[in-house]
Formats: sequence, structure tokens, C-alpha cells
Amino acid sequence: MWWLFRGLRRGVVTTRYPKEVDEWARALPTPPQFDAERLTHRMADKLSTSCPSGALQRDQSDLVLDVAKCSACARCIDLSAGIARPSGLWELAALRREDLIKRIPIGGDKV
Ligand code: SF4
Repeated sequence: MWWLFRGLRRGVVTTRYPKEVDEWARALPTPPQFDAERLTHRMADKLSTSCPSGALQRDQSDLVLDVAKCSACARCIDLSAGIARPSGLWELAALRREDLIKRIPIGGDKV
């Protein structure tokens, strides 16, 4: 309630969006990104079944990451033998739900 009166007295009160990333934010856990050229079907299946939040699914020749479901737990990173690493992206807001779905083409099974 205090904020309401403060806002009415001073006009719109909000915080400024940072012009640059705060140093502490670089240590935040972030969703993974994958090296598609090294990603195999077997590894995609392993990561999909290991993801506790169901954010990873294999869809034929793609690994599909639903960023909205990812809790950035890093389990896939730990299990991927270097194929996945933290993306460093923590500004994940999107206007459309489908913009949070990332398809990673599986390219590691090529001979
Ligand atoms: S970081 Fe965790 S929740 Fe996100 S995709 Fe990997 S295993 Fe799933």
C-alpha cells in the first residue's frame, strides 16, 4: 500500500533497466546451448530422459529445448561431455510462446 501512495505522490516510480549487465549477473545459472555438430541421437536421447523439468525432447533429427521449462539446473551440461554449456543468456522474455522453443539439429551422427 505504501508503494501506491508513493507512486501517486511522485508519479510513476520504477527502477531503471540496467544499461549493462551487472557483474554478479554473469554468475547466474542460464539455460544450455549445444554444439550441434557434436550432438548425436544417442546423446540427445540421454539428455532428454535426464532433464528433470521436461525441457529437452528429441523430435526426429532435432533436439528441442523449451526454454520456458528449463530451470537451468545444469544436469544436461554435466552429462553432455562438453556438448552443452551455459548459454549465458538470462534475459529470456519473449512476446510469443514459440520464441522460447529452440530446435537444435543433431549433426554428430554424420559420417
Ligand atoms: S539445464 Fe536442467 S532443466 Fe535446463 S535443459 Fe538442462 S537438464 Fe533440463
